[in-house]
Amino acid sequence: MDRCNFRCPYCMPKEKFHENYRFLKSQDRLSFDEILRLSRLFASLGVRKLRLTGGEPLLRTNLADLVGDLTMIPGIEDIALTTNGVLLGQHAVDLHANGLRRVTVSLDTLDPEIFARMSGGFAALDQVLHGIDAAIAAGLTPVKINAVIERGVNDHTALDLVERFRGKPVIVRFIEFMDVGNRNAWRPEMVVPSRELAARILARWPMHPVAENYRGEVAQRWRFDDGAGEVGFISSVSQPFCGACSRARLSSEGKFYTCLFATQGRLIHDILTSGQRATAGHGRRQRENADQAYRCGRGARALSAGRQRGAARQRPAFPERTGVRHSHRGRRHGRQADP
Ligand code: SAM
Ligand code: SF4
Repeated sequence: MDRCNFRCPYCMPKEKFHENYRFLKSQDRLSFDEILRLSRLFASLGVRKLRLTGGEPLLRTNLADLVGDLTMIPGIEDIALTTNGVLLGQHAVDLHANGLRRVTVSLDTLDPEIFARMSGGFAALDQVLHGIDAAIAAGLTPVKINAVIERGVNDHTALDLVERFRGKPVIVRFIEFMDVGNRNAWRPEMVVPSRELAARILARWPMHPVAENYRGEVAQRWRFDDGAGEVGFISSVSQPFCGACSRARLSSEGKFYTCLFATQGRLIHDILTSGQRATAGHGRRQRENADQAYRCGRGARALSAGRQRGAARQRPAFPERTGVRHSHRGRRHGRQADP
């Protein structure tokens, strides 16, 4: 879904995504049938994990039906959903009943005023908190929370999130503010490097780094010494993880991207109509694009469908290089940042 019910300034600033902004018409969006057919093709090429994101995925009517159909695809082992949480309270039970097992909710702060500012003027904090509770009650656990941290905006409230969710079936993950384009006024000094944030948390709650769950996991995991769970750090700016990225992204209009910062996607509607030959060519092109994106070495990742194989391994928690790196701009309909 390219549309969203929020206007987070770091993602879809109001100045650009105003009331006359031309989002896709519903007939120009991939239908559920098209998404399913493409997902089957991706699964046959080795994709094991799918993530539904946006824009706001829960704005798509009957999304739980799509989840149910995706779970039936042979080879797909994991389906994830990233949402701003506003509509989660209404849909959590249905999503779980249709096979969703986990959810990521974006929540940058518990301060109502800062929340409104960071969501583009929406006073929906209570709805999001209700959505998180509903997800826990429905069994979509552990719920992951994505918090984008901007210096001088919400960094002073980061520990409140940890305090609220420690000891609950919730993993708070802090994301470095990325320059993902569309005039989000990104400046390097607004990034709070994970190392700095981790030190602030560590000073209050002793914790230690733990190994990643699988190769290419984007969040660096830290577990509290007292057993009250863990937090994660997504250091896309200070420690870009392009080298281990195996993700690709399919936009609402059917364009395929191998990198969040790619300036061009490939329209792959043709695969739906031209059969096996196009499928084989696509596989080759996907590898070529992946190589190209890797060579770019850009400081972020795209995520929607990913091949995540290989043994879990320990990576250094926060190596010395923590300087903020500038990265390129480039975003399309429904292809915003998505940790
Ligand atoms: N609307 C849904 C949501 O907010 O969870 C899904 C789409 S949103 C683009 C996916 C994730 O990207 C969210 O967790 C959001 O915080 C993150 N994100 C968007 N813009 C970002 C930026 N400039 N820097 C870092 N993370 C960003
Ligand atoms: Fe919408 Fe998510 Fe982007 Fe915020 S981060 S504007 S909720 S798509």
